[in-house]
Amino acid sequence: MELKKRIEKFKTREFETNKEFYLGIEKGQNPHTLFIGCSDSRVNAEILFQARAGELFQIRNVANIVPRDDDPDNNLSVVSALEYAVKVLKVKNIIVCGHSNCGGCAAIRKLNDYKDDLPNTAEWISQSSRISDYIDGKYPDMNEDNKLVLLEKLNAVRQLDNLLTYDFIRQAFDSRKLNLQAYYYDIGTGDISIYDYENEFSDLIKEIALS
Ligand SMILES: [Zn+2]
Repeated sequence: MELKKRIEKFKTREFETNKEFYLGIEKGQNPHTLFIGCSDSRVNAEILFQARAGELFQIRNVANIVPRDDDPDNNLSVVSALEYAVKVLKVKNIIVCGHSNCGGCAAIRKLNDYKDDLPNTAEWISQSSRISDYIDGKYPDMNEDNKLVLLEKLNAVRQLDNLLTYDFIRQAFDSRKLNLQAYYYDIGTGDISIYDYENEFSDLIKEIALS
């Protein structure tokens, strides 16, 4: 369907049918969750959470990466959204969602293949190359498919550690005003695994941080 027809349909069907709801959210937002997901078109936060407009503040980028606070090339797009979500909107949850068959994570495994044609992408995703190197070192006999899945999961969990490099996030987390979780969405099965920062993979993440 033509895009213009779709937005006309939004107005005539969705908006007109739910006009009261839209007037209710017109003046401001009060989202409960900051969703940090991959730019991948198959990852749709509203569908996954059965959420309506106004519930999810979102950051989307290639391979759902949060640059660390001490990163010299700090990415203002990500950091400003983090600041606004935590300091102003005071979201209760931050969820970093990795997913299966992630092209960004697959590219982390073959970084040199992308450096010439996609230099910006290669530089961006290289922030997570440490995790990929760690997997190679720790599991030399694992097959490539399983390494990629592990990278997709560990990459999501690792971003929780990256989030905690920001003082304002650390403070909110330590005072229990903010929950941090990593999700892994398997597109082919519809299964979503949930990893708490303190539990799943936390030893691996600490090892990566020290390596
Ligand atoms: Zn992806």
